[in-house]
This record gives sequence, C-alpha cells and structure tokens, in this order.
Amino acid sequence: METKVEIAVRKIKGLGYDVIVRDPGASVEDYLTALDRAIAEAGLYRARAPGRTGCHGCDRCCAERLPLTWIDYLNLRAAAAPDAGLEAFLSVYGHVLVDGPAVDITLAADPAGRCCFLDPDRKICRVYPARPLTCRTYVCCPSTTRARRLRAVLVNRGEDELVRQWLLAAHRRSKPPLIHEGFRPRPRLADWPPTPFSGHTTYREVPLQAVCPPNLWRRLSSGNFLKA
Ligand code: SF4
Ligand code: SF4
Repeated sequence: METKVEIAVRKIKGLGYDVIVRDPGASVEDYLTALDRAIAEAGLYRARAPGRTGCHGCDRCCAERLPLTWIDYLNLRAAAAPDAGLEAFLSVYGHVLVDGPAVDITLAADPAGRCCFLDPDRKICRVYPARPLTCRTYVCCPSTTRARRLRAVLVNRGEDELVRQWLLAAHRRSKPPLIHEGFRPRPRLADWPPTPFSGHTTYREVPLQAVCPPNLWRRLSSGNFLKA
C-alpha cells in the first residue's frame, strides 16, 4: 500500500528530511505516523546530540516552550488525568499566558524549567505515546522549508483550537478563564473562531489539507524537492 505522506531523507548538512504528500486525503495522523517511522528508522542527524541516531535517553529538547493543541490535551488527559476537565488539567499540567488579546497555552515546567512530564533521572518521557504534537514532530536535524512550515502550521492551528475551547469552557461557567500569567489580559472568544480541529478528537480525523494554507498545500503535494 502506498504511503499517504512520504518522509524523504535528504542530505542537507547531514541527514535531514522533506515531507511530500502523496494522497490528497492524507490526515494529520498519516503525517505523524510517517514521521515517527522516519525518526525511528532513518538514522537522521541529531544536531543537538552529535553521535546519536536515536532520541531515547536524551532530554535536550524537553526544556523549551511546548505549545499544546486541543488534541494533545485530549491525549495527555487520557494518559495522565482521565477524570480532569480542561481547567483542572491545565491547572496542574499547563501554563496559560495571556498578553492583551494574545494567549499561549503550553505544558507546565518543573522548577528547573524542564517539562512536567519528563523523568529527569532517566531522561525519558513519562507519557511518550501521548506526547504533544510539538514533541512528536521535532527532530534536531535539518529539514526543508515546507517541512518546517507544515510543523508550525499544525502546532499553531491546533493551539488555536485549545485556546478556543479554554474560552468556551469559561464562557459556559460564566467565570473568567484560568490564567497563570497575565499582562493586561483581554482574551475574547470572538477572536478565536472555529478551526479545522473543531469537533475532532483524534489526529486521524483531521485532514492535512484542511489545516494547510493553499500555497503550503501546493508545495507539499508537488513532490518537487528543488522547489521546496
Ligand atoms: S530531537 Fe531532542 S531528544 Fe532527539 S536527539 Fe535531538 S535534542 Fe535529543
Ligand atoms: S511531553 Fe515528553 S517528549 Fe515532550 S517535552 Fe515533555 S518529556 Fe519531552
């Protein structure tokens, strides 16, 4: 069976990768599955941990800004806190920063600035199968422009949906939303319209094409690496 999304290994200052969409019906999960396979099998270069060909036992990218998507929240809740609602989950595992109308919802960090789901002694992720999109799509190797844009678009649009749901939850309770850090916060539900993630609970349900702007979609499906 032909793969719907191809991760093509390219020599770009060491072994990096490109993304080519082979089937217009490909889902976000098709992309993630193809990338999982390449990360495990392709021997991609590890710029932040030279000499490595795998990520197991390395935590060098687990102390950064870790934006969450709506579906990440659902996956992590199932793994870590099945009974928690959105606010209860975010109060323990999230960090909500609001600056004026702008909102950023990320994973919480421990006092040393490391992700709250990291086992710092063994340097492994305690929720690996449910880790967020931003973790699943990061490899410290070179990649093409279209591959980097795809990752950014998915993370950003998925986070937009989480912000929308966070505001909706507060609206339903008629209470202000949970905010950990606020600078003249004035988030408004009207600023966060439905996204391609709305109404979906898994990455399998979300078509890649629905998330990509048309020019990015054209580049991803062109299969022409030289133009990527
Ligand atoms: S992607 Fe992250 S975990 Fe993997 S080798 Fe690079 S820094 Fe380490
Ligand atoms: S969720 Fe897991 S992989 Fe992602 S930053 Fe945290 S510990 Fe690392």
